[in-house]
Amino acid sequence: MTRIAFIGLGNMGGGMAANQARAGHEVLAFDLSAAALQKAVAAGCAAAGSAAAAVKDADVVITMLPAGQHVRAVYANEILPNAKAGALLIDCSTIDVESARAVAKDATAPPYKERGFRFADAPVSGGAAGAEAGTLAFMVGCVEADLPAIEAVIAPMSRATIRAGDHGAGQAAKICNNMVLGATMIATCEAFALAEKLGLDPERFFEIASKSSGQSWSLTSYCPWPGPVPAAPSNRDYEGGFATAMMLKDLKLAQEAAARCGAATPLGAQAEGLYALFDQLGGGAKDFSAIIELFRGNAPVRDAAAAAS
Ligand code: NAD
Repeated sequence: MTRIAFIGLGNMGGGMAANQARAGHEVLAFDLSAAALQKAVAAGCAAAGSAAAAVKDADVVITMLPAGQHVRAVYANEILPNAKAGALLIDCSTIDVESARAVAKDATAPPYKERGFRFADAPVSGGAAGAEAGTLAFMVGCVEADLPAIEAVIAPMSRATIRAGDHGAGQAAKICNNMVLGATMIATCEAFALAEKLGLDPERFFEIASKSSGQSWSLTSYCPWPGPVPAAPSNRDYEGGFATAMMLKDLKLAQEAAARCGAATPLGAQAEGLYALFDQLGGGAKDFSAIIELFRGNAPVRDAAAAAS
C-alpha cells in the first residue's frame, strides 16, 4: 500500500483518485471545491484540510489541476515546502511546457535538491470516461531511471504509459497530439458538411472514408456526424466528452509553444482560430466535435439576442 496525496479532484482527478483508492492505496485527497472532495471521500479517499496537509506524509503526490499557473502555485506554496523527503511528484495536468520544466527544476534543484524529490510531467489522454474506467494513456516526461516507479503508481489509472523524454516532454507530446486532433476533427467536419451539400449520404461517406485515405481517429472513433459511431458525443447532442473550451486551451498552448521555438504550425493556428470562434458563438461547453455545426450553418449555438446583451 502506498500513501498518495491527490490534489485536484475534478472531472479527471475525481475518477483517477477513486481508482487509486480502489487499488488499495491510502489516498489523502484535497480540492478547493467541497463538493469534489465529498465525492472523493464517497469513493474511498480520506479528506485533507489543505494541499500542504495532504502531502506531509505522502510517498507519492499526484496533481490534476486546470492550468500552469495553478500547478506552479500549488507546487511553490504547498507541495515543495511540505512534502516528505524522497517523495515521487507526478503532475498529470495539461499545462505549458515551460511551467512543467520550471516546476521540475524547482523540485530537483537547490534549495529542494537535498530532499531527493523525483518529478514527472504525465499528462493524459482518454477523457473523463477513461479517468473513471482507469484506461487513460499517460505521456511521461521524467528522468529515465524514475520510470519504473512512475509506471507502478500510474498502473491503476492507465492502459498505456509511454515515456516521451526528459522533463517537459510529456507536455510537448500532449500538445502536439491534440493539435493533430483539433485539425483532423475540423477537416472531418468540413468533409461531412460538404458531403451533405453535395447530396452524398453522410453515412455512405463514413463507410467509404473509413476504408480510404480519409480515415482518422476523429472519423472512426469519434465521428462528428451522429449515427456511425454510437459511443461518440455526436449521438448525445455533443454533451460530455472533451469540451471545446478544453480543446481551445490545448491549441493555445501549442501555438504559444510554436511561437517560442519558431515552429511553423499554420494548420494549428487555423484550428485555434476556428475553435475560438466556435467558443465565442457559445459552443465552449459542447464536445469539440460539435464544431461541425459551424460548417453546416447551424451556429451560433447561443441565442443571438442573449449573445448581444
Ligand atoms: P476540472 O476543472 O474538472 O478539475 C480541476 C479541479 O482542480 C477542480 O475541482 C478545482 O476545484 C481544483 N483546483 C483548482 N485549483 C486548486 C488548488 N489550488 N488546490 C486544489 N484544487 C484545486 O478539470 P478537469 O477536466 O479535471 O481537467 C484537469 C486537467 O486535466 C486539465 O489540465 C485538463 O486540461 C486536463 N485534461 C482534461 C481532460 C478532459 O477530458 N476533461 C482530458 C485530458 C486532460
